[in-house]
Amino acid sequence: MKNVTPICRFCGTTLKHTFVDLGMQPLCESYVGLDQLNRMEPFYPLHTYVCSHCFLVQLEEYVSPEEIFSEYAYFSSYSDQWLEHAKNYVEMIVDRLGLNERSQVVEVASNDGYLLQYFVERGIPVLGVEPAANVAEAAVEKGVPTVVEFLGLRFARELVAKRGGADLLIGNNVLAQVPGLNEFVASMKILLKPSGVITMEFPHLARLMEGNQFDTIYHEHFSYFSLSTVERVFEAQSLRIFDVEELPTHGGSLRIYARHVGDGSKPVSFRVADLRDAERAEGLMDLETYFLFAEKVRETKRSLLDFLIRVKRGRKSVVGYGAPGKGNTLLNYCGIRSDFLDYTVDRNPYKQGKFLPGTHIPIFGPGKIEETKPDYVLILPWNIKGEIMRQLSYIGDWGGQFVVPIPKVTLYNANGIEINDSN
Ligand SMILES: [Zn+2]
Repeated sequence: MKNVTPICRFCGTTLKHTFVDLGMQPLCESYVGLDQLNRMEPFYPLHTYVCSHCFLVQLEEYVSPEEIFSEYAYFSSYSDQWLEHAKNYVEMIVDRLGLNERSQVVEVASNDGYLLQYFVERGIPVLGVEPAANVAEAAVEKGVPTVVEFLGLRFARELVAKRGGADLLIGNNVLAQVPGLNEFVASMKILLKPSGVITMEFPHLARLMEGNQFDTIYHEHFSYFSLSTVERVFEAQSLRIFDVEELPTHGGSLRIYARHVGDGSKPVSFRVADLRDAERAEGLMDLETYFLFAEKVRETKRSLLDFLIRVKRGRKSVVGYGAPGKGNTLLNYCGIRSDFLDYTVDRNPYKQGKFLPGTHIPIFGPGKIEETKPDYVLILPWNIKGEIMRQLSYIGDWGGQFVVPIPKVTLYNANGIEINDSN
């Protein structure tokens, strides 16, 4: 725990400017068991800064990754939409890079093999690198070779010595989660063959700000990137971003394609300059833009509480759907406990029977909704709200409605059609 003035984890500049302060929060993936309910629970500040030099939005490392990721409750394969996304990516990239049974694909933070399994199906050699032993085990059961490790310089060198470099090196939703950003990117460079390609996906800071997605800020996410900033981070390790795509995943993500600076075989796409220009036009090179965000967040808290107070006064019942990390940030920041939300449900059996961190809202299996017929279902993983509304359209049988909190509190009927709040 540091008391000294924080410095930028990329460029070392002293961090003086708050981006948004979400107060004291528990670790958003530390689900609470029945036997832990009466115990103390650690809370840490969730205070983000923006660097005035490189515009990296970041959180201090209040908690080490070892504490967070050694047993991780997030199994990627519980979202159909995410699996579909993974499958489409594999089809695209195998074709684009001409990968075959002589190629080597490595994924960092490979989770439960949700993605690599599709390379395995095509006979393309893979290796997963995953720090959480329990999710790595699930990958191995699927036939996805996985080592339990954090990527660092030493491990990267050992791996290259043992198996050679990667033709394709993938890292999805991991760049935000490494406290030692420069060492991590340097390790990626070591792992990459001279002609290899890195692709990484991470939430795009521009969409986070535009969509008011403050609930995607949590202790596990140390950094929040624009393309312009991530380019600086990669260039510092002599890696060049040569293409970029904007994706709808996680509320708006970027997929970057990087190569060694010296690899002239892959020209830089016009898309890189276009997006860099678009970010400039959105004000991402101007500190003032960042300062406007915090008030937008406070207003969301007021309007969500306003809605909940109104419906509870009307003696209506509200339950949650999902127990994602982002839900926990939102609920803890707003102070919503079982006084507002009777319970939540999640498809992941690992979470069922446990309680949300901080708020201690109980988590059941999805069947609970049909049993208790609530008036409102608050969708916490709003990024997959369409999928959830389709799965839960049966709440129309008793006149149930959906509430989506982000970007602003919005009501939907059971068919997923937005309705005006007439209360
Ligand atoms: Zn910086």
